[in-house]
Amino acid sequence: MKSLSTAQKQILARADVKLSTLTEQQVIKLVNRESDVEHLSDDQLVEFIKIANATYRGGNRIIPDEEYDFTYLAELRNRNPHHPYLSSVEPESAFEGKTVELPVQMLSTEKKHSKDDVKKWLAGIKKEAADVGLEFDQVRLRVTPKLDGFAAYDDGQHLYTRGDGRRGTDITRVFERGLCIGGKGGRGQGAGEIVISDSYFAIHLASKFENTRNFQASIIREKDLDPLTEQAISNKAAVFFPFAALPSWEGSIDEFLSKFDEVAHEVRNSVGYDVDGIIIEVANEDIRRNMGASRHHHRWQLAYKENLERAKVIVLNVRPQTSRSGRVNPVAEFEPTRLSGATLRNVTAHHYGMVIQKGIGPGAEIELIRSGLDIPKIENVLIKAEPKIPELCPSCQTRLIWEKDYLICPNTSDCPAQIENTLEHFFKTLRNIDGFGSQTIKKLYANGIKTVHEVYLLDKDKLIQMGFGEKKTPQNLLDQLQRSRTEPLEDWRFLAAFGIYHMGLGMCERLLQHYRLADVFDLTMDELESVEGFAEVAAKAVVEGLHRIKNRFWNLYHLGFNIQNTQLITEGLESKNSPIAGKLIVFTGAMKSGSREDLKSQAKALGAHIASSVTGKTDILVIGENVGTIKMNDAKEKGAEIITEDDYLALISKNPEKLMNDLDLHPDNQLSLFK
Ligand SMILES: [Zn+2]
Repeated sequence: MKSLSTAQKQILARADVKLSTLTEQQVIKLVNRESDVEHLSDDQLVEFIKIANATYRGGNRIIPDEEYDFTYLAELRNRNPHHPYLSSVEPESAFEGKTVELPVQMLSTEKKHSKDDVKKWLAGIKKEAADVGLEFDQVRLRVTPKLDGFAAYDDGQHLYTRGDGRRGTDITRVFERGLCIGGKGGRGQGAGEIVISDSYFAIHLASKFENTRNFQASIIREKDLDPLTEQAISNKAAVFFPFAALPSWEGSIDEFLSKFDEVAHEVRNSVGYDVDGIIIEVANEDIRRNMGASRHHHRWQLAYKENLERAKVIVLNVRPQTSRSGRVNPVAEFEPTRLSGATLRNVTAHHYGMVIQKGIGPGAEIELIRSGLDIPKIENVLIKAEPKIPELCPSCQTRLIWEKDYLICPNTSDCPAQIENTLEHFFKTLRNIDGFGSQTIKKLYANGIKTVHEVYLLDKDKLIQMGFGEKKTPQNLLDQLQRSRTEPLEDWRFLAAFGIYHMGLGMCERLLQHYRLADVFDLTMDELESVEGFAEVAAKAVVEGLHRIKNRFWNLYHLGFNIQNTQLITEGLESKNSPIAGKLIVFTGAMKSGSREDLKSQAKALGAHIASSVTGKTDILVIGENVGTIKMNDAKEKGAEIITEDDYLALISKNPEKLMNDLDLHPDNQLSLFK
C-alpha cells in the first residue's frame, strides 16, 4: 500500500477522523509493517486505532482485524488499561446521514478469552441469584452464537446503525431494498446484525469483496446498490438477524459447565454465518435487573472468544521500572517474539517477590500466555536463573525499600519516573486535552515542572524558553489547557485523574453518587465501606489516598474547572426525620410491592445505605417471599433486625407528610417517593 485511497479518505472525513499527530506516510508505514507500534507516542497510537477502526467500519479497512485487536488495541491496553477508548463503545458509523438518538442504548458485550474468566463470572451469578431469592439451579443460561456482522437496531418502524451506542444513523432503506429478517418473529425484535451466508459469500461474492465486512457495508451504503449485493438480498443470503431470533442452547449453570466445549462448538456452528465466539447470558429477568449494566456493557451477558496462545522465551534481562505509585515493576525482556498476532519484547513479572520466588533472572526460560487482547502473562518458569534485584531506583537512584512483595522508591517528591507518570496519568484521564503525552511531559519535567498545578500556570514565554518552539506549539498547548478547564468535566473523572490506588473511573463515579466531592476527603472507613463495592476493595488505601491528595486536589480545583457534579442518590435526604436514614439495609427474597431495584432506590432516597449481603454491620434485613430459614438465622446471629416487607413499608411511611415536605424542600431532587 502506497497511500490511502480516495474511498478511505472519504470514510475518514465522514467519521470525522483527522490526521493530526500522524502523517499519511507514517500511517502507510504502519500498515505495511515498516514501522513498529512501539515507536508511536500515545496520541499517535490512539489516532492510528481510530483510523483503523473507521476504515474497518466503513468497509475499507487498512489492516486485518487480528492486527487491530492483537497489536494496536493490545498495545493501548498495555500502556494504559484504563484508556477511555477501551471502555467506550467502538463507533460503528462511518456512513453518510445525520445521526439520531437510538430508541434504546446499545451497549457492547464484555469479552472474555479464557474459560476461567467465564467460570469466575458464573460464580458471581450465584450471589446475584441468592439476592433475588433464587436457588443456583434455578438460574437459566441462554447461549447463542456471536454473529460477526454489522450491528443494527430494529424498533419495528426504523432500522438504525449502532453508531456510538447512543446515536446511530437511520438505515431503514435496507428493508425497502428487500432485506429479509432472519429466523422467526419478523420486524421489531430489537438489536441484531446484518449478516451474509458463509457459503453464498464464498461462491458468489468472494471475487468482488475482500471480506464479508465490505459486503455488509455495501448493503447499507446510500448510493445505488451493487448488482451482486442486490442479488444476495433477493436470494435471502443476506439478512438482518435479530439476536432474539437466534438458535440457542438453554440450561442451568451446572449443565453448561459440565459440557462447556460441546455447547460452545454446537452453538458456534448453529448458523451459516460468520461467528466469532458465543454469547452467554442469564435468562432470568430478576437477576438481569439486579445485575444491571455498566456504562459499557450489560453485566448479565458475556461474550466468550477463545484465543489463547503460548510461547517459550529466554529472559535476556529484567529491567526495573518505577511506576507513578513508586512501585518498581520488574519487566522481563526477551528477543522479539510473535504471540497472538503481536510482536512482544517484554512482559511484566508482577513484583520482585515473584522474581525471587520463581527465579526469573537473565537466562531463565519462561512460558508466556496471552488470551486475546489481554496483556501477556508469565504462565510458567521452565528453567530458573539467579535473579538480579536492584538496590537503587532506576529513575532517581534512591535506595529502594521492601513493602511486602514490592520494591518501592520512597522518593515520592522528587523521583522523575513517579512525577512524569503521575502527570501523564492526569492528562490521559481528563480526556478533554491533547498534546500532553509522554514527550511533552518529559520536556516539562526537564524544565522543572513537577505538578499538574504548575502545568496550568504556564504561559507562552515560559513554554518558549523551555524549547517548545516559537509560536504554534506553545499556543496549542495553552489552548488545550484552556479547553480542559472550560469544557464540562464530570467530577468523578476529575477525581480519578489524581490516580488514587483502587480509584478508577467507575469507583470514583460510584463514590460520588453517595457523597459530594467536597466531603470525600474526610470519609471514615465505615462510611466508605457502606458504599456498594467498597467493602471488597481496600477501603483503608482509598481513605489514605483521598486524604493524601486533599491539598493538591483543592489547589487545582480552585484554578477553575467546569466541574459537573454527579447527581447524589441520597440528594438532600440525610433527613433526620427518615426512620431509616444512615441505616445499612439488605433486601432479600421476592418483593411484592415493586421491583427490588425500586425499593433500593427508595431506601437510598431516604438516606439508607444498601448492601447486597448481610454482614456484622447490617442494621436491617428486609425479607420478601421465599427466604430460607438458614439465611434468616444467619442474619439474626450477625445482629441484624429482620423485618418483613410489610413492616418495612409501614416503617418508612411513618409521618409521610413530614417526609413529603422534606422532599419538597429539595427541588433538584430527582427521586421522589410519591410520584
Ligand atoms: Zn525513584
